[in-house]
Amino acid sequence: MGQIHELSDILADQIAAGEVVERPASVVKELVENAIDAKSTQIDVTVEDAGLTTIKVSDNGIGILHDDVKLAFRRHATSKINSRTDLFKVKTLGFRGEALPSIVSVADVTLQTANKTELEGTAIHIKGGEIKSTKPCASRVGTTITVRDLFFNTPARLKYLSSLPTELANISDIINRLALSHTDIAFSLSNNGKVLIKTAGNGNLQQVIGTIYGISSARQMVSFNGKDLDFTINGFISLPKLTRASRNYISLLINGRYIKNYKLTKALIAGYGSKLMVGRYPFAVVNIQLDPLLVDVNVHPTKQEVRISKEDELSELLTQSIAKRLEQENLIPNGLLNL
Ligand code: ADP
Ligand code: MG
Repeated sequence: MGQIHELSDILADQIAAGEVVERPASVVKELVENAIDAKSTQIDVTVEDAGLTTIKVSDNGIGILHDDVKLAFRRHATSKINSRTDLFKVKTLGFRGEALPSIVSVADVTLQTANKTELEGTAIHIKGGEIKSTKPCASRVGTTITVRDLFFNTPARLKYLSSLPTELANISDIINRLALSHTDIAFSLSNNGKVLIKTAGNGNLQQVIGTIYGISSARQMVSFNGKDLDFTINGFISLPKLTRASRNYISLLINGRYIKNYKLTKALIAGYGSKLMVGRYPFAVVNIQLDPLLVDVNVHPTKQEVRISKEDELSELLTQSIAKRLEQENLIPNGLLNL
């Protein structure tokens, strides 16, 4: 008799969870991205104990149809892509159908959802990958998902977590980036009843920057843009006198997705020439729009690393746009933000 067998679905989901759900902030990222993909205009995130006890994400998006609710928790089940060609022009933040099954395999989850085409909503309770109950419920249109006791069945992962303040800082960081990349959505984040972030959702990037980094930092930032045949860039960068000792205040967004990219970060800094002191980094929010065919987001389960075709061309455009903007600022020093 052979020795190879297929793993159970729950075990396979737990293995996938190892990559997708590293810490409470990864759960927040996946759930908020789902809310964004569901066309929400308001997304409220409430956590207890930096997400270790509870993470609740409530949205006013399209909701999930009754017949789809169980399927949403199956591995590789998604409403976002259909065919191989879709994979090359993904416009949503999610598409792999991995987040929900991964999360429910390592936590105790309840979801309430209602779609506007149905009279009743649906409530489902799943723990450790096992469905405990599903029932109709009264619910406003949208989705609320509550994740409790994260990693209750994976003690090694639980031990690996950092202190509560660090985990909370990671969650705030995720919401900050999502708020900066989706200025027309009103976000809120609170921990143990205390509101930490609240954005207006009125489409004004300057205001979101002010909310997140403080008005005085926002006042020392200027708008910039750049364009060539393949790429359109716009956003805000700090003047050389506003810097930090970390690259963390730089947000690179590609078609609305927050990404990490060393080469582009370097290109951005290069735009400052010799204006920055060694070891100091600017504040920046850089929106890059390009044909989805030019970017492969299917590199890593968290999709923060992407492969960009013509990356050298984009880097050059970024450096030049920033250099040009800072040059102008030297000539007319009154183009500061008026907040
Ligand atoms: P993916 O986002 O890659 O499709 P997920 O496991 O995160 O995979 O979600 C599975 C499916 O569940 C989504 O494709 C979507 O149809 C549905 N879904 C999840 N969260 C929401 C939400 N907040 N509002 C509406 N639909 C949702
Ligand atoms: Mg998703």
